[in-house]
Amino acid sequence: MNSKKGIAILGSTGSIGTQALEVLESYPDYFDLQVLTAGKNADLLIEQALKYHPNSVVISDESLYQKVKDALWAEDIHVYAGEQALCQVVESNEVHTVLTALVGYAGLKPTIHAIEAGKTIALANKETLVVAGELITKLAKEKGVNIYPVDSEHSAIFQCLVGEFHNPIEKIYLTASGGPFRGFTHEQLKSVSLAQALKHPNWSMGAKITIDSASLMNKGLEVIEAKWLFGLRTDQIDVIVHPQSIVHSLVQFEDGSMKAQMGLPDMKLPIQFALTFPQRLPTNFPRFNFMDYPQLTFEAPDRSVFKNLDLAFQVMDMQGTAACSLNAANEVAVDAFLNEKISFLEIAELNQVVVQESMNVLNPSYEQYVEADTQAREKARQLIAKTN
Ligand code: NDP
Ligand code: MG
Repeated sequence: MNSKKGIAILGSTGSIGTQALEVLESYPDYFDLQVLTAGKNADLLIEQALKYHPNSVVISDESLYQKVKDALWAEDIHVYAGEQALCQVVESNEVHTVLTALVGYAGLKPTIHAIEAGKTIALANKETLVVAGELITKLAKEKGVNIYPVDSEHSAIFQCLVGEFHNPIEKIYLTASGGPFRGFTHEQLKSVSLAQALKHPNWSMGAKITIDSASLMNKGLEVIEAKWLFGLRTDQIDVIVHPQSIVHSLVQFEDGSMKAQMGLPDMKLPIQFALTFPQRLPTNFPRFNFMDYPQLTFEAPDRSVFKNLDLAFQVMDMQGTAACSLNAANEVAVDAFLNEKISFLEIAELNQVVVQESMNVLNPSYEQYVEADTQAREKARQLIAKTN
């Protein structure tokens, strides 16, 4: 019997994936890397496979299968390709925890498979909970599966809750850095460039989440993620801008006491905590020094300028497939912005129109989520085509 914890990293070639590999590398006696997966970056997947020797790798882009297969022919590593393989590979008996570090809607199906197979989930892919939080949390409950958050704010809340699981939460505060456009007016946002939007002040992340952070959509998605992870109502979740990104989030309990989790912004810490909970393993990550941060500041987000945040609260209240439609619209909009087909402000405008025009199906089945996603993407693409 393998006493080490078997780990599957979905999206190992991304920002979270590569940082997770650094974490695993530090504790060879604790973790057993079983699965690595990539979307299109075959070269990095091959490099990672040769270095870390997982049991299996999956390249989602099937046209790259032969390349990966050829590069790893002499190794004792199973090579698979395609979406179905991504779902099957997480079901292996040797896998204990699945780290979902894929970006976007693509994370939904493999996460469902992993939960159905009874695997512990370390969830970075927030879109999964945004799209289908109702279905995912219900399924996880049925299967007795724990979902541990990787997102730094949610990890912070989770860390504050350790030892308090039976004490009701009165309220949580999710902190937001405010992104590169904090303090900008609507007028100033009209002319911001892609390069400016890609420059996050405190975190280095994948392109999609970096744009989401600049538009505050990321915080909106996190509000919805928090609702499902911690079973909260809309009025129990608040967002506060904290430009230094040292206080990662706060919980307020029913006696009025507040707990915050603090530390330097480094995703390796929440990744590691999700993989080792309830243990805290020693690290040599740089430590926080109060003298480097004589002031920690807090301010209200500007909801009149950054409309995505209110939109997220709205779809949360609407329930059903509304958040799924918002997520789909936003994925298409961000992709169009990254390809310089629409302007920064058009992201939120497009999201709003798609949500307004989408049918909201209550108590949706998996198929209805898929349908809502397809419809919203189609609508978003049509709107973009019209403006170009
Ligand atoms: P990246 O873009 O850096 O990485 C995404 C990963 O997913 C890559 O391995 C990519 O493969 C893979 N991928 C993308 N599309 C597909 C697809 N259609 N099918 C299969 N695989 C795919 O993203 P991040 O690491 O920044 O983010 C990952 C998730 O974690 C997101 O949901 C994000 O919101 C969340 N998160 C990220 C944080 C961060 O600091 N980066 C912080 C908190 C949450 P390839 O590159 O090979 O194509
Ligand atoms: Mg976050």
